[in-house]
Amino acid sequence: MKKNILLLHTGGTISMKMTVDGAVLPNERNPIIDAKESLATYANTIEIEAFNLPSPHITPTEMLTLRNLIVTQTQLYKIDGVVITHGTDTLEETAYFLDLTTNFDFPIVLTGAMRSSNELGADGIYNLVEAVRVACDEKARGKGVLVVMNDEIHQAFNITKTSTSSVNTFQSPQYGPIGLVTKKAIHIQQQPVRRQYVPLEAITKRVALLKVYAGMEADMIESILAAGYDGLVLEGLGQGNVPPAVAKAIKKLLAHHMPVVLVSRCFNGIAEGVYGYEGGGKELEDAGVIFANGINGQKARLKLLIGMNQLHTPIDLKLFFV
Ligand code: ASP
Repeated sequence: MKKNILLLHTGGTISMKMTVDGAVLPNERNPIIDAKESLATYANTIEIEAFNLPSPHITPTEMLTLRNLIVTQTQLYKIDGVVITHGTDTLEETAYFLDLTTNFDFPIVLTGAMRSSNELGADGIYNLVEAVRVACDEKARGKGVLVVMNDEIHQAFNITKTSTSSVNTFQSPQYGPIGLVTKKAIHIQQQPVRRQYVPLEAITKRVALLKVYAGMEADMIESILAAGYDGLVLEGLGQGNVPPAVAKAIKKLLAHHMPVVLVSRCFNGIAEGVYGYEGGGKELEDAGVIFANGINGQKARLKLLIGMNQLHTPIDLKLFFV
């Protein structure tokens, strides 16, 4: 029997067209609606155009709307899986947001395109069909939120956009994809070791993300306090170190009870408190900085945002990031 797939469109290149003068733009009529016939081979779809936004316009508010839409649709219909089309620029952020804020066993799969619908070699409908095939597959259940692009299946926790233009842009540094899509089958070889779920009702707090660099001064960090942010994520150096001026500013933020989370700006590896010199990760950890256990800066920022917006049952942020 065919599965019921909730198909949510949010915009992005997958639903755009290139004009004669070479600008890629949103389209009034979403061109992926033409994929209906190809999808009907695999599933019954309940299709909703949630937004039609380029993904740089997506904010945590839209992410929460999507999460709530999935919840309400599952109350109305028997849903076997969800597929979300999304711009690739912030796709990993929406994927990770949904990973943390939903706890369904059925697959939630995000996909997008690197080439708009009327460009040569357009990859949108191809990726969409693959995403629906994965969402229909029993092996994809219980794996958390997935991203399917270019014949690969990735977990939201690991995936990141690595190329500005290649169709092979999405990679999972350190761990690789959890599966592959071939012409005949869905192959999944890995199982997440754990899933985290936090219910989220509203987003009122603000969290900033800054990248650390050689010679960074304190003023940039201190401006976070002045601008009224509630939390800060820093992409630190190497194993999780910062220049001395930054370390001093971090301590000021901590003294104001502002959570500071550190990730590494390195593409691979996990930041840890190792070095004990001024600004070294061990010194920062002892001062109260939280290490983010391998997620990248943009995901750590969402995780802190979600953790800080627990209105009724506050979360122990240190444990949340373990
Ligand atoms: N700039 C586009 C977006 O994220 C890129 C894409 O969809 O591939 O909306």
